[in-house]
Amino acid sequence: MTVSALIRKCASYTRGRDARQAGLYPYYPSFAAREAGVARMTGGREVVMCGSNDYLGLSTDPRVVAAAAEATARYGAGCTGSRLLNGNLDLHDRLERELADFFGKPAALVLTTGYQANLGAVAGLCGPGDLVLIDQQAHASLIDAARLSRAKIQWFAHNDPDDLTGKLRRTGHRGGVLVVVDGVYSMAGDLCPLPRLVESCREFDATLLVDDAHGAGVLDEGRGTCSHFGLTDEVPLVTLTFSKAFGSIGGAVLGEEEVVEYLRHHARALMFSASASPADTAAALRSLRILREEPWRCAAVAGNAAYLRRELTALGYRVGAGVTPIVPVDTGDEPATLGAWNLLIEQGVYVNAVLPPAASPRLRTSCTAVQTREQLDRAVAAFAAVRERVPGLTVAAAG
Ligand code: PMP
Repeated sequence: MTVSALIRKCASYTRGRDARQAGLYPYYPSFAAREAGVARMTGGREVVMCGSNDYLGLSTDPRVVAAAAEATARYGAGCTGSRLLNGNLDLHDRLERELADFFGKPAALVLTTGYQANLGAVAGLCGPGDLVLIDQQAHASLIDAARLSRAKIQWFAHNDPDDLTGKLRRTGHRGGVLVVVDGVYSMAGDLCPLPRLVESCREFDATLLVDDAHGAGVLDEGRGTCSHFGLTDEVPLVTLTFSKAFGSIGGAVLGEEEVVEYLRHHARALMFSASASPADTAAALRSLRILREEPWRCAAVAGNAAYLRRELTALGYRVGAGVTPIVPVDTGDEPATLGAWNLLIEQGVYVNAVLPPAASPRLRTSCTAVQTREQLDRAVAAFAAVRERVPGLTVAAAG
């Protein structure tokens, strides 16, 4: 076999390998088992899990696990086709009806991942001749979706409705205009300024899409960012994922019936990909019912995040403020971030190391509804130990 330029490019890529050899590689950690609040890493180490998006603790809930097992027994392991042809189950239809009802939207469309929900919604709706205006910190899937659509793309400054309004005013664009934001930004946990965004879109006849991957199931007893601002009826398009608060995998687009009907026949990420598995779909449906019946979970995760924020701030860490389960800890630079990340694991605590270009260096810490106070205190104690041992870590004098 001849070795072509593309294969040579891969062979000369050593960054990942070098970092692994230096013991400074924070990606693809492997877990051998998981249960509420804790996980066992491959190799045996038990860690308190402060780095998952399982905000309500439903991924290991016995009722959700049983629903997945029952669906597998009834329908099989996979649907082996797209919803368009042979892969549509009554489970997908039921989940759509219950999602629409819970989130207060006329219709829902279930796709196989949240990533695909964004691809399907943006590239299904927009094409050449349209304009997508996108927040500079919007999720990668929204950026990919905008590129895939072949619409013109313009960026506006993060969470800056004045910049958006200026751009909408100056565009002179004649085609459709889609404004794309995250409801909750995943790296900092900040919310989009929804009231001002809605106002600007209304003034300039633009359509607003809110990716509520991190707000759905969490804010306002689970009804998400739009409901948190009392603006559910003012946001025409919302996308969701089941890989966070719903503890499963899958995604959805919520909107008017005619938009969902249009996407059923134009969203290529839906039409040309196999449907979410019976287990994933049943798990998401069971989670939705549980979160509806158990609003205490939203209060519990908010309480845990407030506790962790307070305790880490008292240790001198610079911690992002906010009302979401995402507790970003500013770590200064890359070596300090990786040093702290490794030491935290040694101390039995797992968090996510985030490095540029994804965002400025930080430990993205996150809470769930099922973490116990004892588990959170173990995490705080580990952060206290790390504070003393990592040179260059951004910490103030302990408060
Ligand atoms: N949007 C946002 C804001 C996300 O954080 C993610 C997942 N990281 C996605 C979309 C994609 O969701 P999924 O994991 O279901 O593909």
